[in-house]
Formats: sequence, structure tokens, C-alpha cells
Amino acid sequence: MVLLFVFYSFSVVDLISYNADLLHDTKTMHDTNGTRSPQLKANHPDVLKNVLSTVVHEVGHTLGLRHNFIAQEDGNTSAMCYSDDLDTTSYFSATANNNTNSSIGVSEAKYGGHFVCQPGKYDMYAIKYGYTPLKNETSHTRHPSLDVLANGQHHDATLNALLPLNPLFATDEDIRGEDPRVNTWNHNVRGCGYDKLNYSLLLRQSLLKLVQNDKIYPEMYSERVRLSLSCYTRHVSDCLKLIGGREQDVTRRKMVMTSSKDTKKAIGAVVDFCVGDAFRFNEEEIDYMMSRWPSSSYHLATSTPTENHGKLCQRLLDSVLHSSTLTRLEVQYNLCTRTNKNTSKNQQRLRTFDVFYALAYDDAVQVDGGLFHPFQTATSMDSTSSKDAFIEQVNQSGTDFLRCTASMHLAIVANKRMHSTAIHASVRAGAAAFASEASTVVRTWLDMYGSALDSIAKAHWSSIVNALIKPPESTNQSGGLGNFMRFMVGGSGSSSSGSSGSGSTAHAMNATGSQWLEEETSLDTFLHLGCNRMRCWHDPFRTTKTRQVRNLEQHRTALLYELKHTMLMGNL
Ligand SMILES: [Zn+2]
Repeated sequence: MVLLFVFYSFSVVDLISYNADLLHDTKTMHDTNGTRSPQLKANHPDVLKNVLSTVVHEVGHTLGLRHNFIAQEDGNTSAMCYSDDLDTTSYFSATANNNTNSSIGVSEAKYGGHFVCQPGKYDMYAIKYGYTPLKNETSHTRHPSLDVLANGQHHDATLNALLPLNPLFATDEDIRGEDPRVNTWNHNVRGCGYDKLNYSLLLRQSLLKLVQNDKIYPEMYSERVRLSLSCYTRHVSDCLKLIGGREQDVTRRKMVMTSSKDTKKAIGAVVDFCVGDAFRFNEEEIDYMMSRWPSSSYHLATSTPTENHGKLCQRLLDSVLHSSTLTRLEVQYNLCTRTNKNTSKNQQRLRTFDVFYALAYDDAVQVDGGLFHPFQTATSMDSTSSKDAFIEQVNQSGTDFLRCTASMHLAIVANKRMHSTAIHASVRAGAAAFASEASTVVRTWLDMYGSALDSIAKAHWSSIVNALIKPPESTNQSGGLGNFMRFMVGGSGSSSSGSSGSGSTAHAMNATGSQWLEEETSLDTFLHLGCNRMRCWHDPFRTTKTRQVRNLEQHRTALLYELKHTMLMGNL
């Protein structure tokens, strides 16, 4: 208990110094304690608020309560959740463009606005269930009143099965389940992180002014910008569970599929993430950007945010287009088609093709067009009004730093999925249909107007076509022409030159020589069918002995990290 308190008293200070809305405290250089680390005074209202909500949470644990990670989506019904530190609800409507007075916007973010500082509805319910003395209770026999209590009713009442009054509950083990509302540090998964995006964009403007006028250090500037972006990234990543997800319904007895509307919104959020404003920095901003201070010392890294964007973009697209997500969507579509034969409801459910299509062509909330913008579907291409303006747009998106990496990755994943033998045939068919349609649209246009394009943009869009229609690598490992080719071009390395010619022989050579990452086999999934992954015998850390070894290893790594951190902070 004492240990726990010591741990929390440290982590609270840490949390506050990085997460609180410090803007009003950063107008002058900080009292830096020799470390240049911004810290708040112990009696600062934000610190007190954090301590109070933490204490309430920990008292809940000592009374036997477990975490409730869905309470935030159920009207903030529990202190046992992990609250989103910064309430940015007002930023759903604010954008960087329509709110020029950024300082007003920023002050609207409320630190601790979502904190639960007293027992919530769920906490009362759980305590009543566990602590109400019941008449004639005997050990090892379930008292009938427990069902009444579990339903959220008074223990003397008769059970009303039609009216569930119990709040929603989901705990640590449910985090990896299918319900997108089960989350940590996230107040509104359906918001898809747009509040965090708008907040980050506005905050950035204010911070830039402060750092330019020597009011804050560049370390603090970069740390704030980086944290606001990582918070945004986390929220977009959380909302991906809306794609193919299922949620507990009001009766608490069954799961219902996430609506297609929410699925589409989440896909749009990924497009906005990939090609929107979040990772578009100007030179002024980059001038003050430092790498992850203090954990990786003071060295400057101007490219870090943009480099990270490429990686994060790929990770998000991989996740949306993961075979398990797409298979889930196909299953849902199939179920709806079978049960609602005559309604139009089944038409609305998204399948593999629709997900690719939405990523490539649909408008996101803040960005014009999808990842293949300005290209549209074959039918809508004919209505394009001005050819010159269109050529200009193709030039622009073909040379745009963020758009290039995102559109290329989409093409690569579509091709990978259509050739992957380990996944469901309907997913492969959907990916193939998209690759075929998208490549035809771009190729047909390039054949007609390609000569008018900027050479780099033309090369990019040609590579997109090639990536979409690229034939699969020969999986025949024993003999055959594939092996001979591999031998001739030197192992599996890509020694074939970069010339991505259009001849079929060039394709074959590129395919054998390239690093082709096959989708991970579903064998692993099969092994775990029907077993609880946490402690099943497939888990290499299932025994006490192996767990101890692993824990020791982790403990050592943590200690070494801490030592490095302490030395950098100059506190030794
Ligand atoms: Zn806890």
C-alpha cells in the first residue's frame, strides 16, 4: 500500500508536468530546477485534481473494485476508468481555419474535465452488489437477491428482467475485445480523434508564438507538439475498432454490429490522418523542433515528425486492411445478407472492396478526396470539367510528400491482400476488384494525358499502377524458374535494378528479387481457437518459472532506462 502510494505520488508529478494544459503557466520561462523540465507547484489546482481522482480510484481498488474501461462511454459512471486527461470536447467544431483567435480556442481545453472525483454510478452499484448484507445467506450458496442486485435494483425488489438498470462494465481483459468503446485515456471513440486534431493544430500556433518570443524553451515546444500529435494518433488508432466491431446492446445480453456510418467515419479519420494537416509543418515550426527530449538527449532532429508520419501511416493502413478486420466485415456482410434478404439494410454493410474504395476515393472530414485524389471512379471521371485543372491536381498529389507515401502503401497492401493465400477468398476477391478498377482508371488517364504531367508525378502514378497489378512472388521454393532466377540475381536480395519497366519479364524479375512480405499465416489463429490466450499452453510465459525470468529481464531493462534518464536529468 505504501509502495503503491509512493509510486503514484511520483507518477502524478510526471503526468502533470507533461499533460496538464500548461499554456497559462508558460508565458514566462519556468523555474527549471536545473533540469529545464517544466513542473507545476504541488498545490496547483491541476495537481490537486489529479491527486484526488487518483486517490478515489485507488480506494476503489482497495475495496475490491476492478477497472471499468467502458464507463467513459456510459456517462462517466466510474472512477475505475482511465480518464482522458484533457477535455477537448469543444474542439470537435473548432478548426484552425475558422478560429483565427487561437488563444481563445486553446483556453477552452479543460485539464481534468473528464476526471471522476467521487464514486460513480457503476462504483455504487458494484459496492452494493458486494457489500449488501442479505438475509439467510449461507456460504457457497448463491443468494437469489444477488441477481436482483446485479440488475441494478434494490435487493428487496423482484427481478425485472426487461429493464436492465446496471451500468456497462468492461475490464482489463476486455480491452482487446471487439467493443470499440472499451478504451483507456479516451472519452469518445466515435469522435475518431477530430477534437485532438483540431486541438493539436491550434495549440501548435500558440506554442510557436511563445517559443519565438523566448517565453518557453524549444524543448518544451517540441515536447508539447509531439505529445499533442501522439494523443491524436492514439485516438485515431482507437477508432479503428469501429471497423467491423460489435457492441454490447442496451439489454446487456447480446452484441450488435457497429453501424456502417461509424465504420465510414473511422475510415475517413485514417485518410485525414494520412494526408491532412496534422503532420504538415512549416519551416518556422521545424526550426524549433527537437527530438525526444530528454530521453534521447539534446540532439536536433528536424525530420522526426515527418519520418514518424510515414511509419504511423503505414501502421494504420495495415491495421484497417488487416485480413482479420476485413474477414470480420465479410462475415458481418454475409450474416446480414442471409438474415435481411428483402431489406435494403444489407446493402449498407461494408465489405473489403468498400473499405479500399473509401480509402482511395471518399472525402474525409477535413481533406478533399481520398488517398488516390484527384482520381475518382471510372464513372465519375468523365464528368471532370477542366482537364488543365485536373492535370494540375494530379501533379500536386503525385509530388506531395505525405500523399505519396500513403497512396503507395494503399496500392501495395491491395496487391498483397489479393495474392495472399492464407486469407479468406472473399477478402482476396474484394482486394482484386479494387486493384483492377483503380489501376484501370489511373492507367487509362495516364495513357491519354500522361505526357502533360510533371515527370516525378508521372513516375509516381505509374508506380501506383505497377504496385496494384504486380504479380505475386512465386511461392514455389523447390526448383523451377523462380529458383533459377533467384540464383542468377543473387539470393533473395533485390539486385535487380530499379527500372520498373512495363514488360512482363521485368515484373517477374522484380517480383522474385523484392522483399515480399506475405501476410502472417493464420496457423497461429488456429492454434488458439477456443483457448484463453492469457494463460493457455501456447503462451511461452505460462509457467511461473518462465514468467519470473521474463519479469526479471523487464525489470533490468527498466532499471537501466531509469539510470540513463536520471543521468540526463542531472539529478545524480
Ligand atoms: Zn487502477
